[in-house]
Amino acid sequence: MWSKHKGTLTIISGFSGAGKGTIVKRLVSDYPDVYALSISATTRKPRKGERHGIDYFFMEHDEFESKIREKEFIEYAQYVGNYYGTPKGYVYEKMDEGKDVILEIEVQGALNVKKQYPDSLLLFVTPPDAKTLHNRLIGRGTETEDVIMDRMRRATEEADLIANYDYIIVNDDLNDSVRFTHELINMQRYKTANNNNFIIDIKNNLTDYLKGEK
Ligand code: 5GP
Repeated sequence: MWSKHKGTLTIISGFSGAGKGTIVKRLVSDYPDVYALSISATTRKPRKGERHGIDYFFMEHDEFESKIREKEFIEYAQYVGNYYGTPKGYVYEKMDEGKDVILEIEVQGALNVKKQYPDSLLLFVTPPDAKTLHNRLIGRGTETEDVIMDRMRRATEEADLIANYDYIIVNDDLNDSVRFTHELINMQRYKTANNNNFIIDIKNNLTDYLKGEK
């Protein structure tokens, strides 16, 4: 009876380079039947190896702005000069199927989603310290030093908002971070708000059972 619970919604944010993308990819590959990862739209140009429809839906400014007007996004935000947004359809469809949906998005967008869905889980991924973050951004080799510095400055601003999140994941050891994240999301399945159908069913079941006992 309990298996009928609705899929949960988790939002994972973190400083650029904190390793949130790696954690999310591991969750989806380790538990393909449990998780669905939302694919965002962006006006940022693809990085080497990124594919349209897999990493992002890459689009021009005009197309993105027309989708904003048509209310096709759950949320959208600007980040270091580009638009990023979460398309509605996929997220709702997967939650209805009972999948735990993960949005990997920046802080403004995350707080917007939390306003609309107070029962969503907000996780913030951080490295243990600034030096580690800088080294990871350099190691990634995908951005110029200017862009890296923009992202470090943006991280300083984002740090003010961490307290709005439900939990932090200090990403020192990747395996530990994946395990903690999975455990936290799993706990969400037991929230009363995600089990409205079960609550109605158990009440009816008890009532019917007592009638049958008479
Ligand atoms: P990147 O350019 O490194 O792929 O992403 C930059 C930032 O945008 C990251 O913090 C990422 O989580 C965030 N982001 C990706 N997709 C979305 C989205 O749909 N909405 C919002 N608000 N942020 C997003």
